[in-house]
Amino acid sequence: MPTTRDYYEILSVERTASGDEIKRAYRRLAMKHHPDRNPGDAAAEAKFKEGAEAYEVLSDAERRATYDRFGHAGLRGTPGHDFRSMNVEDIFSMFNDIFSGGGLGASRTGRRGSRGVPRGYDLETEVELTLEEVLSGASRDVEFKRLDVCRTCEGSGAKPGTRPATCSMCKGNGQVAHAGLGGMFRMVTACPQCRGTGTVITDKCGDCRGNGRVSVKRNLSVKIPPGVQDGQAVRVQGEGEPPPRELSASGEGVRGDLHVVIRVREHQRFERDGDHLLLALPVAFTQAVLGARVEVPTLAGSTMFDLPAATQHGALFRVSGEGVPNLRTGRRGDLVLVIQLVVPRKLTDKQRQLLKEYAKTEDYDLTSMDRPSLWNKIKDAVTGS
Ligand code: ZN
Repeated sequence: MPTTRDYYEILSVERTASGDEIKRAYRRLAMKHHPDRNPGDAAAEAKFKEGAEAYEVLSDAERRATYDRFGHAGLRGTPGHDFRSMNVEDIFSMFNDIFSGGGLGASRTGRRGSRGVPRGYDLETEVELTLEEVLSGASRDVEFKRLDVCRTCEGSGAKPGTRPATCSMCKGNGQVAHAGLGGMFRMVTACPQCRGTGTVITDKCGDCRGNGRVSVKRNLSVKIPPGVQDGQAVRVQGEGEPPPRELSASGEGVRGDLHVVIRVREHQRFERDGDHLLLALPVAFTQAVLGARVEVPTLAGSTMFDLPAATQHGALFRVSGEGVPNLRTGRRGDLVLVIQLVVPRKLTDKQRQLLKEYAKTEDYDLTSMDRPSLWNKIKDAVTGS
């Protein structure tokens, strides 16, 4: 049964949307509701399939025109896919061109390696690190779900002791030809009945319901090297999925990889810029005038720093080697201090008196002082110029 919802509404596009806009909208929707990202969520799967249906119609100029004039009724009885009864994998392979070029779609299609060896899907998970952990490196236990070869049927999907039968739709070829999007070209896709295997399972394995694959939870300890940046990923080779059943029922071949994407939490005190750290350092105006030995917090603890006499507000100093390590070289960046002059809010009578005495002796000309832009200076300091 096709949907009764408005196709434009499903894809959240205007009725005047261009083909490109429709394509983009569908891609966005499909990625959001992809069952891999919403395991066990029937509503997401329904939305995913509804989106595919809307896209199939709206991406085809002729069918779109019919739909615009007559609505859903106009399409009744015309050829189209019944997406609701279709397998998610097959929907993906149908619209493969949309998803290729990286991301979830590309990794879901499976592929053959350089020597024709079947390769499984890559998976992705995320961990969050503190800046302190970036400094030292960290180890994290991650838990993720993946499909593994069903042990009961060894991946065939057939009940032990039975054999799959030749698929009647593709006569065992595993592929069928049909009109592509909009009937503009013919495309050959995996046979929808046997999902490209050329065989159908009449007596299904009870443990995997004929899929040959079961979803399992996997726990791993992952080492994260010092110096990682937010958004980078640690690749754990061979911890993805075995080749899909269409490529290799027994799972023989190469497993995909697990990509552990690193998120670095923002630090309350330090601002990170590559391998360098920025720190706003408050100093008393007397310390700035006279110079002082001050304690400076670092990621690992603290260090002493000699503030020179006549330090200006916004002055920058570099404490070398107190940044974070470079991922490749291991060499640590610098800690850049941004001096913040603190003016006292309250003075005792004695202090006021002393300062008044001092003020009488002041003889420098404020108007002649140059005022470089503070932020330009910070930028220069960080980039090392
Ligand atoms: Zn099984």
